Amino acid sequence: MTWQERYGAGLMNTYGTPPLLLTRGKGAHVWDVDGKEYVDLLAGIAVNSLGHAHPAVVAAVTEQVSTLGHVSNLFASEPPIALAHRLLGLLGAEGRVFFSNSGTEANEAAFKLTRRTGRTHVVATEEAFHGRTMGALALTANAAYRTPFEPLPGHVTWVPFGDAEALAAAVTDETAAVVVEPLQGEAGVNQPDKDYLARVREITTRHGALMWLDEIQTGVGRTGTWFAHQNPALVDGVVVPDVITLAKGLGGGVPIGATIALGAAATLLEPGNHGTTFGGNPMATAAALAVLDTIESEGLLDHVTEIGALLVEGLTADARVTETRGAGLLLGLDLAAGIDAKLVVSAAMAAGWLINSPRPHRIRLAPPLVLTRQDAEAFVAAWPAILDSAGAAS
Ligand SMILES: *Cc1c(COP(=O)(O)O)cnc(C)c1O
Repeated sequence: MTWQERYGAGLMNTYGTPPLLLTRGKGAHVWDVDGKEYVDLLAGIAVNSLGHAHPAVVAAVTEQVSTLGHVSNLFASEPPIALAHRLLGLLGAEGRVFFSNSGTEANEAAFKLTRRTGRTHVVATEEAFHGRTMGALALTANAAYRTPFEPLPGHVTWVPFGDAEALAAAVTDETAAVVVEPLQGEAGVNQPDKDYLARVREITTRHGALMWLDEIQTGVGRTGTWFAHQNPALVDGVVVPDVITLAKGLGGGVPIGATIALGAAATLLEPGNHGTTFGGNPMATAAALAVLDTIESEGLLDHVTEIGALLVEGLTADARVTETRGAGLLLGLDLAAGIDAKLVVSAAMAAGWLINSPRPHRIRLAPPLVLTRQDAEAFVAAWPAILDSAGAAS
């Protein structure tokens, strides 16, 4: 049997059969089962923040798992305590953290936390993605994801992303929370005006509702600042949310989610309200600490800003890219009318580059934060020929 046949016979068909079987990775490079090399400009969907097999993550996980890998929440261990304080330090705020194992779980905890306000109404945004478990799914805008699983937790209103007027009209004194992404990653990197998050803060404060930022894709250095809501390229002024959810890039490939609640929101979840067996285990939190340490020690925030700017400038030099969205290393590229982004993805793969197309005419790039200048320049050089082989007329 081919690996495709074994895959299809063994795994539930939730994703279709993937195009490649990957066997190893190093930095931003991966190799498939035939030994063909690719530059990974997706990083496992913004997860492999330090690339593949980064020595700091390998060492942290190896050391922790060979010392004390898991204890459950019946006992404490040092790494989750250190990680909680580290994250709060990066936010420069007082608060508390709940650790879990994925993005959707980080959002489940946040969703439950919002119910402890005594209110149930949540306002979310159109095209938002918050995860696939029943609670997070209830907030996800895509009806195709939701309707097969209804009834879901209700009392959710969607408003157009980036539209502060629509949000102001939807939020009332009964609203528990507004949940929003600084950039909508799964929708292809939708970017709001720079005053949007400040408006969200204003509106939620006025109605006593929580402001919940889903930074699962945008957080942990992805846009060139620790968190996207701190990025002056994306957000004007200082915005302090009540709840922030993180996952993807935090563990450098090791599954982890974090729900961070600031100020008064930090004590909404009380003993018995929530729990997880694996969440925040010493191994996963040690990996996350290694990721944060490395971002700092290798100066990766500035590197991300620099390489992101290089990519935007280089790729938009081809007129077939009509617009770019995002910042740092979370970029959406709009392709000129008539260019099929799926064909561009295939052409890129054939040429040794992994990218994806969250929308029919848009490409998303979310490479490892450690992507080298050399790899970025090589991609820029390869780009026009990739568009040519996708049949895009120039
Ligand atoms: C990926 C993602 C999630 C869900 O994370 P999982 O780890 O896949 O459950 C939620 N919100 C955003 C913004 C995401 O990008």
